[in-house]
Amino acid sequence: MNIPMPRRLTLLTTAATLALLALSPARAAAQGRWVPAYPTVRTPAYAALQESFRSRDRLGSLLETMSEFNLPRNITVEMAECGVPGAFYQPDRPAVRLCYELVTKLLEEIRADGGGDEEFFETFFAVMLHAMGHALVDELNLPLSLPAEEAADLFIADLEREADAEPEETSTMLRGAITLHELGINWEHPRSTEPGMDAARLQKLTCLIYGYAPAKHDWVVSEGRLSESRARACITEARNTAQRWDRMIQPHLRG
Ligand SMILES: [Zn+2]
Repeated sequence: MNIPMPRRLTLLTTAATLALLALSPARAAAQGRWVPAYPTVRTPAYAALQESFRSRDRLGSLLETMSEFNLPRNITVEMAECGVPGAFYQPDRPAVRLCYELVTKLLEEIRADGGGDEEFFETFFAVMLHAMGHALVDELNLPLSLPAEEAADLFIADLEREADAEPEETSTMLRGAITLHELGINWEHPRSTEPGMDAARLQKLTCLIYGYAPAKHDWVVSEGRLSESRARACITEARNTAQRWDRMIQPHLRG
């Protein structure tokens, strides 16, 4: 499988690299970061997938785009063989575990639905950022008075907001969340028949991502995913959420 690097993430990488260069080595050494890992797999099909991800350290490149967060300790983000098609945050390690079984399931179901690699990566990033959102909320003790799943989704929305700030970029993660909802995949409870991204969560995420950049996401209204009156309210809601998020996250940013 060919794994492309989305262009907007390449742009973020440049900014993140410049930010990193500004740090003194002593300070950088004391700070936690997202650490990519590719533990050994047993199944040959997953070994091939692992090679696809590891050969150019795709995971590491992605994580570098999120290096602005000053984490209290390292958080591993690994591609692993898990035995179930899931993606999990493991607070005791701490680690985010993204399973090859889920990668395979997403690829199969998306292809069966007429999609391709682009749709796969949209969903994969949404899953990955949601799991990282759990880790971030937990490790930084973010004072969010929201259900845990909604709080973790705020990280997806925030990364989308950052990407949308680039004039040339188009959104992808909301499309990924919609695909996850439509496929009914429950990556945190793989044996459940309920979708992970249920309708209520998707509606909240849609509202926020639309509200952050309405001009870029006008398709949300034209496709009937938000009513026009709800969409107007989302702009105010998103502005308030962005202010709260920025205030909360500011003390945890490098530089
Ligand atoms: Zn979750």
